[in-house]
Amino acid sequence: VPVVSVIGAGLAGSEAALAAAGQGVRVRLYEMRPARMTPAHRTGNFAELVCSTSLGGEGIQQSKGLLQSEMRSVGAAIVGSADAAKVPAGNALAVDREEFSARVTRLIREHPLIEVVEGEVSVIPEGLVVIASGPLTSEALAEDVARLTGSERLSFYDAAAPVIDVDSIDLTVAWRAGRYDQSADYINCPFTKEEYLRFFGALEQARTHTPHDWEKLEFFEGCMPIEEIARRGVSTPRFGPMSPKGLDDPRTGRWPYAVAQLRQEDREGRMWSLVGFQTGLKWGDQKEVVHLIPGLQNAEIVRYGVMHRNTYLNAPAVLDSTLQLKADPTKLVAGVLAGTEGYLESSATGWLAGTNAARLSRGLQPLTPPAESMLGGLVRYLASANPKGFQPMNVNWALVPELPVEINEKTGKPRKLGKREKRPVMFARGLNAFMRWAQDEAGLSVTPQARPEPAEA
Ligand code: FAD
Repeated sequence: VPVVSVIGAGLAGSEAALAAAGQGVRVRLYEMRPARMTPAHRTGNFAELVCSTSLGGEGIQQSKGLLQSEMRSVGAAIVGSADAAKVPAGNALAVDREEFSARVTRLIREHPLIEVVEGEVSVIPEGLVVIASGPLTSEALAEDVARLTGSERLSFYDAAAPVIDVDSIDLTVAWRAGRYDQSADYINCPFTKEEYLRFFGALEQARTHTPHDWEKLEFFEGCMPIEEIARRGVSTPRFGPMSPKGLDDPRTGRWPYAVAQLRQEDREGRMWSLVGFQTGLKWGDQKEVVHLIPGLQNAEIVRYGVMHRNTYLNAPAVLDSTLQLKADPTKLVAGVLAGTEGYLESSATGWLAGTNAARLSRGLQPLTPPAESMLGGLVRYLASANPKGFQPMNVNWALVPELPVEINEKTGKPRKLGKREKRPVMFARGLNAFMRWAQDEAGLSVTPQARPEPAEA
């Protein structure tokens, strides 16, 4: 009798199955491909990469780099297979697509504790289950997930605006205020007419991702992409989401020609999203357009805007940070369905869901990694973000706590560290916390050579 069932042998499900089996637990892994394909997958291989072949930036400056190292330290299969199938790509962990998936497929097929069951799951099985059916979860299964969570907690379409790291917003240009003296919940970026026309010109020229047939959806008025609004005329954005009404620029005492507003995304106010700027622009073009917004000329985009089909739960409303469903703690969720974005993030949440499912099957408490680690930061975000307008999240440095403020001994003033100084320290702190947790609390063997590189000053 299988002890843990896993639905979907994608990035999250493959890792979940191998993590649970690695704990000595029997796993039944369900996958509908190749008999039934999704609109994006091309093969029957497990952990197929549907688009790019990169698992993100590497090294001690990178939030993805930290998550990769955390996964390496516990011998996780996806990052291990990526390391083995790595191709040169500057500072990114990019792989040979076929070799990578072939490796993961082999690890699963050859594992004595994993039984692969081919075919579509339309009803969630009894017992301990990791649901990892991804952004293109089949319809029947999506219905059954909605039965467990409530249909209003399941989205089928992602229309997201770019999210900016607050440290990169120029507050000598942008200012905090609400319209007509309402509470100052927004950061406002003021345009002169010239600046607006330059921005509009770039927006008109920018290229969108060519929509696949299955992405051709009618836009609701409320989530029309900014490029679509711009197509209706040069003044349309200015009379819509970019209206300056009720916003006195403190530098001039008057309403600017147009305004781009940002709203806080996380509790600590370190991530801010551009209001009404949901967009399907290509990422390079999107960055150029965002950089033409006054105050955002050096903006660091922690999550790009996207417009595509995506099946995901409203994680903060339905999930615990252990990735268990609140409505039924014997059911765990991982990958995009759990509200993450990205291959690496999907695999890491798969690892945690598989590890916790194995623990539950052995009568142990499920765990949440420490807040300083990138995986801990991500799952805590999923469980605690604002459920209103929740959208899937990539890892980024704003998910982990800030460093304590250091006081300069000579001046007695707080010493403000730059990003390049801060991140290696946060990297070492996160990896150490994760490895200590994995060893002491999760009882896992941790690879000693995965110690962090020394923090560079
Ligand atoms: P998947 O890897 O899709 O795995 C889900 C698995 O479940 C699939 O194998 C599917 O066949 C199976 N399944 C679904 N329903 C059932 C069922 N009822 N029964 C049995 N099996 C089922 N992320 C990036 O980092 N880089 C990118 O370039 C990128 N491009 C993307 C492009 C597209 C078109 C999409 C949709 C997403 C993209 N993503 C990208 C986002 C995301 O990281 C990937 O989709 C990632 O594969 C998600 O991992 P997952 O395990 O959640 O889902």
